[in-house]
Amino acid sequence: MKPVPWVERMAPYAPPEDLEVVAEHAGVSAEKVIKLDANENPYGPSPRVREALARFDGFHRYPDPDQRKLRAAIAEYAGVEAGQLIVGNGSDEIIDLLCRVYLEPGDEAIDCTPTFGMYRFSTELVGGRAVEAPRAADWRVDTDAVRESINDHTRLVFVATPNNPTGNVLGEEALEALLDTGCIVVLDEAYVEFSAAGSHCQRVADHENLVVLGTFSKWAGLAGLRVGYGVFPPGIAQHLWKVKPPFNVNRAAEVAVRATIDDIANVRANVGCIVTERERMAEALGRIAGIRVWPSAANFMLLQPLHERAARLRDHLQRSGIAVRAYSHPRLAHAVRISVGRPSDTDAVIQSLQGWQAAEGAA
Ligand SMILES: *Cc1c(COP(=O)(O)O)cnc(C)c1O
Repeated sequence: MKPVPWVERMAPYAPPEDLEVVAEHAGVSAEKVIKLDANENPYGPSPRVREALARFDGFHRYPDPDQRKLRAAIAEYAGVEAGQLIVGNGSDEIIDLLCRVYLEPGDEAIDCTPTFGMYRFSTELVGGRAVEAPRAADWRVDTDAVRESINDHTRLVFVATPNNPTGNVLGEEALEALLDTGCIVVLDEAYVEFSAAGSHCQRVADHENLVVLGTFSKWAGLAGLRVGYGVFPPGIAQHLWKVKPPFNVNRAAEVAVRATIDDIANVRANVGCIVTERERMAEALGRIAGIRVWPSAANFMLLQPLHERAARLRDHLQRSGIAVRAYSHPRLAHAVRISVGRPSDTDAVIQSLQGWQAAEGAA
C-alpha cells in the first residue's frame, strides 16, 4: 500500500543497536555488555522514584491532561512559570509536536549538523525538508550558514546545546544571531545539567521565537519512563496545547518526576560523579595515540580515529563488549560517541582502546 509521498521518501531512524545484538557480536551475555551507546545515567534514578512508584495506587486512572502537578514540579526545578511549560513523552514528542504545528509539506527546518537525528526525523514525518547548516570544523554553529539557508519556507531552527554528538555548547552571540533571524529557535538542552553553561529557559520570557527543551532522560536517569518538556512563549504554547494528545505523559512518569525533584540533591550528586568521570575519561583517552577526543560539556564524548582506515574503532570496542554509537553522517564516518559511565566502565574502555592502539601500531 502506497503511503503519503514524504513517508515513502523517508529513511528510517537508526536507533542504537539492541543490547542482545551487541552481546552476540561480543560473545558475552547481555548483562555483561557495557552500555555506553545511549547517554543513559549509569546510576539510575533517585531511589525515591522506586519507592514512590511502589506506593502509588492510581495506575487505574488516566493522567491529568493539563499536567498541573507535573508542570508545577518542573516549574520549580527549572525556575520558570508553570504556564510556560508543556510536558511530553520524552522531549522527542515535543520536537514532533513543534513540527506538526509549524511545518506543512515543503516547509523547511534547519539542523546544525552533525546533530541529533530526531530533528530530521520529525521534520520529514510531516513532509518538511530538513536543511543542513553544517557546523564549522571545530563544531561551532556557523550562524552565517544558518542565515544563508533561510528562505520563505524556513520555519524552525533546531540547535542542541551541548550538542549531541559533538559535546560543545552554543555561544551567547550565536544564540542572539539565531534569534535575530525571526525563525522559531528550538534550543534543545537535553544535556545542560552536565555543563557549566547553565540553562537558557529563563530567557524564553523575553522572546516570542525561543523554545527551550529539557528532559529527565539523561541527568535524572528516567530515559525508560519518557519525560521531557518545553518552555514556550504564549504564542507558541497556545497551538501546542491543541495538538498535544491528552494522555501523552503516563502516571508513572508523573510520580517519578515529583520524586526526583524531591530528592534533587541526591540526583545532582550523581550528575557530579558523571562530570568528574568525564574529565578523567577525557584525559585517559587523550593519552591513547591515534584518537582525537573532542572536549565535551555533556555526559558523552566524540572520538575520531586520526587515520581514516580505522573504521574499526566501534568494532573493536564492540568485541570487548562495549556498546557505543556510530554514525552514517559523512563528517562522522569513522567517529564514535561514547557515554560516560561508572569509573569501572571507563577502565574497560581504556583497556580496550590500549589494545586497539597496539593493534593499530602493529598494522
Ligand atoms: C536524548 C536526547 C533527547 C531526547 O530525550 P527524550 O526526552 O528521551 O526524548 C533530546 N535531544 C537530544 C539532543 C538528545 O540527545
